[in-house]
Amino acid sequence: MEDTDNIIKLHVGIDDTDSAEGMCTTYLTHIILDKLADIGIKPMDYPRLIRLNPFARYKTRGNGALSFVVEIPENQIDEVKGIVLDNVEKYSMFDGVNTNPGVVFYTGEITEKMSQYAIDAIYNIYTIDYARQFAEDNDIEYYQFKKGRGIIGSIAAISIELDDVTYECLAYRTKENYGTKRRLDEESIFEMNDKTYPETFDNIDMEGNYAAIEPHTPCPVLYGIRGNTPEIVEQAHEMVISYEDIEGYRIFKTNQHTDMHIQENVKICDMKDTGCYCFDCKVSSNPHDIEGGHVFFDVCDDTGCIECAAFEPTKSFRNIVRKLKVGDELTIYGGVNENHTLNIEKFKLRKVSNQYKYLNPLCVCGKRMKSAGKDKGFKCPKCGHKDKEGQKIAEIIPRDVKEGFYEVPTEARRHLSKPIIRFE
Ligand code: ATP
Repeated sequence: MEDTDNIIKLHVGIDDTDSAEGMCTTYLTHIILDKLADIGIKPMDYPRLIRLNPFARYKTRGNGALSFVVEIPENQIDEVKGIVLDNVEKYSMFDGVNTNPGVVFYTGEITEKMSQYAIDAIYNIYTIDYARQFAEDNDIEYYQFKKGRGIIGSIAAISIELDDVTYECLAYRTKENYGTKRRLDEESIFEMNDKTYPETFDNIDMEGNYAAIEPHTPCPVLYGIRGNTPEIVEQAHEMVISYEDIEGYRIFKTNQHTDMHIQENVKICDMKDTGCYCFDCKVSSNPHDIEGGHVFFDVCDDTGCIECAAFEPTKSFRNIVRKLKVGDELTIYGGVNENHTLNIEKFKLRKVSNQYKYLNPLCVCGKRMKSAGKDKGFKCPKCGHKDKEGQKIAEIIPRDVKEGFYEVPTEARRHLSKPIIRFE
């Protein structure tokens, strides 16, 4: 009984264990949770997959960090830490140049300072030194492997307070299939989508009309299904037919698709590189294509202007962007890259501006007049009538774009970006 008297809440954070060649920190977390289950320890809630600043330079793919909480007798803490650290050492892709695992442990309640650190790890870019100092100042025990950059994300993953959340059910492959083409029954994915959308989302790339739940990397993930509740992602997972064995699956609670990266109502003059914003503006230069299929245009508010881009991977989204014209009023959601160009994730076209063409006036005889020469007014080519005072007439050019909310297709969506369907 003595053991259970002193129950401790242990927060565990893990990050930066994978590389483009393999592994996935969610899978490592899954293994660790299986090992803890073997000794009768279950996490207090779903493990958390926390997406951080999308512009972090050393990310492998989506800048995700993992955390979970266990409530255990004090005398089991070392055993749990041992299981976590042993498995990080065993499974991390240490050969990856940018794989620098970091693990943190923390007992007790998350402080306001810690949750602020986490928000700032989404809004800003930190250094390893800053994270290390933060851990030391806040009694967070940390373990660094190689450069140990992972502690930046691990601290954020244990510290973040989630308001809006979504869930992702990740199914894992058996080892012998790593690196091979994933064998899923596409029809079953479409059927699953028919039955569960919009409570699950991003299952299908509507544009390409193909299933979008499988990654295209050699990682252990067979597929991931995202949705609003743990129940719906699990049900959806059960509907997918796989022709290869599934090693196991795990449901994660996540800040994916919540727009947690977006800072609202920020003026253009205050926007910083690697920050993500939602702001009102007007188009100030018509969109133009550059080599590679990227579309650029400028927008301004009352404090400044910024270049915006819809890059090639955003596919048909660029067709809407190409239709924008100077004066259109927008609310843009997107992130500013290192070149101070804003990558658009979605936008509201709040007001379609009037565009005009300027025509010569009509003659009294009904014929369109011609210019009579510089400062000489107009002359009718049919009846010869002259009008020295005549002015060009503005005529509205019809626009083939409607006010509305537009977003990039599934395949081009950032993990953190909230799909329009979740606004409804
Ligand atoms: P995957 O999504 O496949 O798990 P990943 O894209 O999450 O991979 P990681 O391997 O986790 O990439 O690498 C991201 C690295 O960036 C980690 O070391 C993490 O600590 C660090 N990082 C996270 N947020 C920030 C930030 N705000 N500033 C600087 N570094 C960060």
